[in-house]
Amino acid sequence: MDALNIQASRPRHISPEEWAVRVDLAACYRLIAHFGWDDLILTHNSARVPGEPNHMLINPMGLMFNEVTASNILKVDFDGNLVAPSQYEPIYAGVVIHGAIYLGRPDVEVVIHTHTEADIAVGVQEEGLLPLSQWAMRFHNRLGYHDYEGVSLDMDERERLQRSIGNHPVLVLRNHGLLATGRNVAEAFSHTYHFERSAEAQLKAQAACASGAQLVFPPEETCEKQAAQFATMGDNIRLGGQREWPALLRLCDRLDPSFRT
Ligand SMILES: [Zn+2]
Repeated sequence: MDALNIQASRPRHISPEEWAVRVDLAACYRLIAHFGWDDLILTHNSARVPGEPNHMLINPMGLMFNEVTASNILKVDFDGNLVAPSQYEPIYAGVVIHGAIYLGRPDVEVVIHTHTEADIAVGVQEEGLLPLSQWAMRFHNRLGYHDYEGVSLDMDERERLQRSIGNHPVLVLRNHGLLATGRNVAEAFSHTYHFERSAEAQLKAQAACASGAQLVFPPEETCEKQAAQFATMGDNIRLGGQREWPALLRLCDRLDPSFRT
């Protein structure tokens, strides 16, 4: 699909800025399905609408992630009311969880929520994610943990979700899954990707302990140094995931370019 056709697929009532976020968010759904981190029609990813800080874009209830497109993503307010008409409805738990983050964190533009076996198997461990891999060290002292309260259908859980994530980029939902935030889709996807790889590596290392392996932990200062390297570039705050995002979009185009429609 060339640039002219991509532009032609933008409905006239949607601004170019909102459409660009919709395309990136639709790509994110396709990537999550591609990497096997989706959960049938459950879980949800969202983005704040450019120029409309109290509205978010989120997936419709009932669609598999490889059916999500830029135009069928819903625009809702933080109570879950549709802002733009649609034949679909949002997933209510998604409204509760994602709305909590946007209300509590004005710096967050994107939230990705996954349920994977690795997220859960690490999240149920008292110490959570351990700094065992280079992937994991970027999260050293930069993760929140939230105790399970049942399916998130109560608005009063929002305050506790906000407390649990604090100023961290990622929140481990114990017994449930993961929330990764970002200042754009690429950054939130990067956090999701690196947490998944970290969790998978940790579980393999821990499995090896059953046959007598001893784990080696880097010193605390090395973990902190590595986390700081991933958070900043020189004196500048680093926006993760930017270098690989164009390549990930090319992957999505090869898999099925309908996400752009
Ligand atoms: Zn969930």
